[in-house]
Amino acid sequence: MHPILARARELKDRTIGWRRDLHAHPEIGFQEVRTGALVAKELQRLGYQIEVGVGRTGVVGVLAGGKPGACILLRFDMDALPIQEETGVEYASINPGVMHACGHDGHVAVGLTVANILREKVNDIQGTIKLIFQPAEEGLGGAAAMIKDEVMQNPQPKAAFGLHLWNEQPVGWAAITAGAFMASSDMFRVKISGKGGHGALPQNTADPLLAGALVVNALQSVVSRNVSPLQPAVVSVTQFQGGTALNIIPDEVTLGGTVRTYDAELRNLIIGRMKTIIEGVSASLGCEAEFEIVEHTPAVTNAADTAEVVQRAALAVEPGIVIDETYRSSMSEDMSLFLQAVPGCFFFVGSAPVDPRKRFGHHHPKFDIDEEALPLAAGILTQAALSMLAKLAGE
Ligand SMILES: [Zn+2]
Ligand SMILES: [Zn+2]
Repeated sequence: MHPILARARELKDRTIGWRRDLHAHPEIGFQEVRTGALVAKELQRLGYQIEVGVGRTGVVGVLAGGKPGACILLRFDMDALPIQEETGVEYASINPGVMHACGHDGHVAVGLTVANILREKVNDIQGTIKLIFQPAEEGLGGAAAMIKDEVMQNPQPKAAFGLHLWNEQPVGWAAITAGAFMASSDMFRVKISGKGGHGALPQNTADPLLAGALVVNALQSVVSRNVSPLQPAVVSVTQFQGGTALNIIPDEVTLGGTVRTYDAELRNLIIGRMKTIIEGVSASLGCEAEFEIVEHTPAVTNAADTAEVVQRAALAVEPGIVIDETYRSSMSEDMSLFLQAVPGCFFFVGSAPVDPRKRFGHHHPKFDIDEEALPLAAGILTQAALSMLAKLAGE
């Protein structure tokens, strides 16, 4: 067996111990105080130079290797979700209404395992390892908060890597895709203002509800009439509010939804078309529209050479691994913000439980992982980090 995977498997009991402890004590984004303290304590014990409170509750650990070279960043997210756990496992959440239902408990455990193995290899490391434990990945802006707190400086990384445990596939599978990997996500809101009045006297009104209904319809032309059938994109309207009584035409309505693409240029085209349609359709009915993007996460795009480093690392540590090099997810991830700043690779490691009755998707109240995924994930990431530093040193 590859020595790094062998070492990760030797550490498996500790890895699982961390994961189960974190699973029992989940914390919502920007409240990862206990989690961050556990991470900081272990990194300090290992001799990493640590910094806490980066992006509010984030933790950074830096390890200078025995040989000169570049710095690379490895990112692990720490937050849980506002979900009531229904797994019934003995390490189930003791915090009511909060659950590690996305596997970030496993990511932290993998991160601490990687930290241990890299520390043991410190003399051979050609450069510097920067481990970042990120708060608030689940739509709350944790990556942006860490970047604002200058996590990409001192030392400045040359490449970034991260992973997600993935319950769509079992242990022994990985998705390592060059190029577009996860979608961009925009959340939008629209306010349409008109002139309300009596439902029996429509001639005296400018009906924002009718304008809103036409806007919802017309928005479905954006993808179907502007985007190549070979390019994936989604515009979904998911909210529509307005009106207080059955005989009153309201003054205003609000609606909103989400846009997903894998390409920044296409995303800008779609947002532009939406604005034109929303404002134009509303104006044609005597109404006024305000269109606002309330949240934007760019697409996760992997640099080809870094994806290749991870693919090779995966095959080196586990020659039997099944690698899907074309996999994409329409979900989004704020790892994309780090990958906008520096090239790198974000990848998935299969973690679906063997027993099909225990297999549930991410964000499900019965979500649980096959813990055999943890040493494999740690092994791949550790090997990828060492290979990347060697590659950068050779350039
Ligand atoms: Zn999630
Ligand atoms: Zn997640």
